[in-house]
Amino acid sequence: MVCAYIGLGSNLAQPLEQVRRAIAELDQIPETRVLAHSRWYRSVAVGPGDQPDYINAVAELETDLEAHALLDQLQAIEQAHQRVRLERWGPRTLDLDLLLYGDDIIATERLTVPHAYLKERNFVLFPLADLARDLTLPSGESLESLLALSTSDGLEALED
Ligand code: ATP
Ligand code: CA
Ligand code: CA
Ligand code: CA
Repeated sequence: MVCAYIGLGSNLAQPLEQVRRAIAELDQIPETRVLAHSRWYRSVAVGPGDQPDYINAVAELETDLEAHALLDQLQAIEQAHQRVRLERWGPRTLDLDLLLYGDDIIATERLTVPHAYLKERNFVLFPLADLARDLTLPSGESLESLLALSTSDGLEALED
């Protein structure tokens, strides 16, 4: 069993509903269980043009799937949410990023783990801290140290 963290984001078609449903669907992935999820966050979109705010969260999984097989499953769930890729960082119904896969460092054509922008995104760091305040990245950096360099600008935890 490997512990993996998934970053969820949506800014189209009832984002909160998209993210809630996706958590349930993550639990349906074979050989995989959702152990916990963070609070829901609202974040100001950083992509191109004028986009609606995002809802973001992070889920903690326990899985027996290999990382690329897990990515296949994440992409299948995105497709089921009718995600359409029009432009990089454009608005989307659902984005599922594999943030961490145990302590593995992965660099293949399809997969970079830890996720390439994990360290600089407050909408990833804050929800991760809801789940694993004491987390240490494969690089040896602590989540606490990354949070200390981060601000909560544009980010708001929602009341549930
Ligand atoms: P960002 O990478 O900045 O979060 P994005 O989530 O909008 O951007 P996508 O269009 O969802 O990017 O994904 C583009 C490609 O990124 C995917 O086809 C996938 O193969 C690749 N990828 C590399 N590393 C990861 C990862 N850790 N999690 C998810 N996808 C990844
Ligand atoms: Ca399951
Ligand atoms: Ca993403
Ligand atoms: Ca993605």
